Amino acid sequence: MSNKSTSSAVATQALAYCTSCKMDLNSIIVAMKADRIAKVQCLTCKKEHAYKAPKGIDSPEKKPTKRASKKKEAQEAATAQSIEMEWEKLMNQNKEAPIKGYSLQAHFVLGDKIKHPTFGDGIVGRLIYPNKIEVLFRNDLKILIYAGSRQA
Ligand SMILES: [Zn+2]
Repeated sequence: MSNKSTSSAVATQALAYCTSCKMDLNSIIVAMKADRIAKVQCLTCKKEHAYKAPKGIDSPEKKPTKRASKKKEAQEAATAQSIEMEWEKLMNQNKEAPIKGYSLQAHFVLGDKIKHPTFGDGIVGRLIYPNKIEVLFRNDLKILIYAGSRQA
């Protein structure tokens, strides 16, 4: 029932990470350093410990996600690079092959070079029965539709 004066130890509470309870809990601020909380007493286990910011603040799930996306970016960059290298290799291997204009009515065989209005020069890397071809362009692998290989 004491009428607490504002100058005496202020029992201010703060949410802090308790190193004993291993979770964010309401704690009494025991000591301040400048304008920062230095020491707190956990209201749950009554232990005093150095103040640690509640873990909820810098959500721990954020970091792995960032790392994962960075990894993915790197992988995508590597894939893009390997596509270009593969494309260059195939283009060199098939130097003699004439470049055919791409059209839905055209017939293609493995190793045919294709000039595509959007994707540029590509090379047929795979025939997909009955009427698709996998074409490696400089920056991307595309599945294109063609007239089919039956009559070829
Ligand atoms: Zn505690």
